[in-house]
Amino acid sequence: MSVRIILIGPPGAGKGTQAAKLSEKLGIPAISTGDIFRANVAGETELGKTAKRYMDAGEYVPDEVTNSMVQDRLGQDDAKAGFLLDGYPRTEAQVAELDRMLEGMGEKLDHVVELTADTDEVVERLLARAQLQGRSDDTEDVIRHRLDVYAEQTQPLTDIYAERGLLRQVDGLGEVDAITDRIIKAIDT
Ligand code: ADP
Repeated sequence: MSVRIILIGPPGAGKGTQAAKLSEKLGIPAISTGDIFRANVAGETELGKTAKRYMDAGEYVPDEVTNSMVQDRLGQDDAKAGFLLDGYPRTEAQVAELDRMLEGMGEKLDHVVELTADTDEVVERLLARAQLQGRSDDTEDVIRHRLDVYAEQTQPLTDIYAERGLLRQVDGLGEVDAITDRIIKAIDT
């Protein structure tokens, strides 16, 4: 199926988990900017070195860096017939840049899925994940800061997409599979 989806939601809302499920069900690649940055950090590339400084502080990586990385990724063959973006766009400037990229490809977005979860729940999930995965940005202070940055810079993007008639809000609380079903329903318009 040729479908282009953005998944948006606070850290800990379960975007990565749902992205993997949806990718399989819909047969489209899940593109996670966070994962691409982490792979670059692990591989000690120049991009990784730049990104790490911001990620460890809970800040967003500068738009120019992120935008060109996404442009490269969307240009790859497997993204031609659709994709699911997890973690991009996160700023208004990234929205404009994605619009430009899609226009260049002669494509448009189909859905923006907002996965909702309240702050106490996401903090709890992220602290639990910290124990399991040891991600360097999952300490309590950095988690709180990431949530503030999300509220300030990313939450407002939902208004932009609501105005375009693309926003589908989905409750991110509950069983993983039940949430996947909710998302499938929400995009089955
Ligand atoms: P989470 O959603 O739990 O914060 P991600 O894995 O999506 O985790 O992102 C981890 C970090 O990667 C972010 O805190 C940020 O530093 C960086 N990052 C990911 N996507 C973007 C983006 N679109 N723009 C800027 N920075 C990003």
